Order: sequence, then C-alpha cells, then structure tokens
Amino acid sequence: MKLFPRLFLGHLLVILIALAALFLIAELTAPRFYRHHVEQMVTLLGPEGSALRPDLERGMRGTLNNALIAALPFAVLMAALTAFLTSRRIVRSVQLLSAGSQALAAGQYSRRLPETGRDELTELAHNFNVMAASLGRVEQDRITLIGNVGHELRTPLAALRGYTEALTDGVMRPEQVAPAVQREVHVMERLAADLGLVSRVEAGQVTLHPHTFSSQRLFTAAVDRFGEAYQERGVTLSWTGAPQLLAVHADFERALQVLSNLLTNALRHTAEGGRVSMVARGGAEQVTFEVQDTGSGIPPEHLDRIFERFYRVDAARTRGDGSGVGLTIARSLVEQMGGRIDVTSSYGGSTFTFTLPAVREKVTVQKEVP
Ligand code: ADP
Repeated sequence: MKLFPRLFLGHLLVILIALAALFLIAELTAPRFYRHHVEQMVTLLGPEGSALRPDLERGMRGTLNNALIAALPFAVLMAALTAFLTSRRIVRSVQLLSAGSQALAAGQYSRRLPETGRDELTELAHNFNVMAASLGRVEQDRITLIGNVGHELRTPLAALRGYTEALTDGVMRPEQVAPAVQREVHVMERLAADLGLVSRVEAGQVTLHPHTFSSQRLFTAAVDRFGEAYQERGVTLSWTGAPQLLAVHADFERALQVLSNLLTNALRHTAEGGRVSMVARGGAEQVTFEVQDTGSGIPPEHLDRIFERFYRVDAARTRGDGSGVGLTIARSLVEQMGGRIDVTSSYGGSTFTFTLPAVREKVTVQKEVP
C-alpha cells in the first residue's frame, strides 16, 4: 500500500479509537455524576421526588445519547480532515525529498528543498540542502581539477610537439632537442607525482610516521638539501632560534617536505642577493616554523587563494616552474600532522609559517631518533 493511504488510515484509526474511548467514558461516568445531582433534588422535593427519579435518569441518558449521536458525524469529519492534512504534509515532504534525491543523482546539484517549519521534516530538508551544496562544491572542484590538469599538460605537450616537428623537418639535431625534451618530460613527471601525492594527502591516505625531533635537525636537513641551489642563485639561506630545545612530534620526512616546498618557492621568487631565513619559535602546544624571504612578495588580494590547487599569482610567469600544487600539498600535510599553515606578505617579501605539535619535555639533539 502507498504511504499516503497507510498514513491516512493510521491517523484515522487512532482518532476513531480516541472518539470511541470518549463515548464509552462519557456513557459510563456521566450517569454517576448525574445521580448525585438527582439525589439532591429528591431530598429537596421529599416523597414526590422519589417517584421522579427513574424519569430524571431516563431523561439524562436520552439527552446524553442524543448529544453524542449529533456530535458523531462532525467529530468523524474533523478526524478525517485532520488525518488527511497531516498525512498529506508528511507524504509531500517525502515526495519532495525523493524528487530531490533523484535530481541529485542525475547531477542537478543546484536543487534545494523548501525549509518551512521547525519540525524534523524541515531539519531533514535542511540536511539535504547542505548535502546538495557540498556535493555541488565537490563536483565543481572535480571539473576545475580536470580543466587545470588539461591546461598544465598542454604546455609541455605543445613544446614536445614543437621539438618532434623540428626533428622531423631537420631544423634541429637530436642532440639539440634531447635536453629540452627531457625538461618537458620532467615537468610532466613532476605534475603526475604531485597530483598523485595531493590526491593521496587530501584523501588522508598518506601514512604518517610521527616521532620526536628537534627543529635543528629539520633545518640542517633543509640546508643540506637546498644549500647548493641557493648558493648557485646567489641567495643566502640561514636559520636562527634556539632550535635544539624546540622539539616536535611529527613525521620528519613530511615536515621536511613542507619546508622544502616553502624553500623552493622562496628561492623561485627571491632575486640574486636576497635572503631567506628559517626561524623556529616555541609555544606551549605548538612549535612555529617560519620561512621568510626578501622576494617579490604576494599581493594581498591573492593571499587567501594561494593554497588552492593550481592557483598562481602570475600564471604566465611561473608556468613550467612548478606544478602549482606545492602549497596545497604543504597545507594538507601540515593539517594532517595537527598544525596549520599561514602566510603574510608585502612587497618586501613573504613569510610562511606552519606549526607542528610541540613536545613538552626538553629533548636534546643526542636523544633524537636518527
Ligand atoms: P607553484 O608550483 O606555482 O609554486 P605553489 O602552490 O607552490 O605552486 O604556489 C602557489 C603560488 O603562490 C605560486 O605560483 C606563486 O605565485 C605564489 N607564491 C608561493 N610562494 C611564494 C613566495 N615565497 N613569494 C612569492 N610568491 C609565492
């Protein structure tokens, strides 16, 4: 049976049972209450009053039955109307929800349900609307991502096509083309690797191996990794603070990856003669790591968006330099390790900060896990 007749009959049955109970109780109790009144009259009227007693009781029963019978059709009508309206409201909400779900399944993410009222059905409609909005955002993200990946691939692919045509036409020799081809292939490899990583990090599929290490160890590893590149570009890389006392509990390799992404960006955007400094500051719960550069800076209107996938302040200038997801990866990793990442910037340079959970007791460098 469909939901509406089931609800309607259910409601009607409940109301009719209530009516029957009302009738029964009225029939049982009314004579008893009336009898008390009759006794008082009989006492007042004396011996003649006793003769009136059966008449009075019969009259009362008749009046009660007539009143109940007269009220019955109206009561049943009202019961049916109430059952109809209540059932219709519930069924209408379910129908709207069902139609909305079908629309959502068909990809209509802008579909919303009316939120009128304060009951659980309205709450259900509200939750549906929240879910539809969130699915819409996910879908939009997916479309943007596919567009971005296509865009990122077009540049190296166009270059590769150019080189192969130059080879075919004999304009360039293989040894002239080889380094450029390798460079473009490297761009695509890095894009593929970064995309793989970003999807794993965002899906929470990157397994972390946290242990305790000092900020000094992190900075030393970063200098080992980047010292040469910085030197070649004429940019000074340094670190300060009392790092051997600032211990954190996090995944060392992932923390180094975050720092590496920030140092790569800092180097890319800092001109020769500039400086990049790393600072660690201790707090009660967190250690804050800072990467400060004297580079080009980031205009304020872009600051909110630079952690988004493929967002670039100057798309033309940096295309090919990075895959455009370095900061997205950094943010996801930091958040997964229980910290947060932030940026402040002016035309005099940028400062990226990220936090990692602090270890309360003092840890000396010798105690560290290697
Ligand atoms: P990309 O691979 O393009 O560097 P990121 O996600 O690492 O991608 O960075 C996003 C954008 O943020 C960069 O394209 C650049 O415009 C800007 N940016 C990041 N770090 C810096 C910095 N230290 N100085 C200036 N701009 C920066």
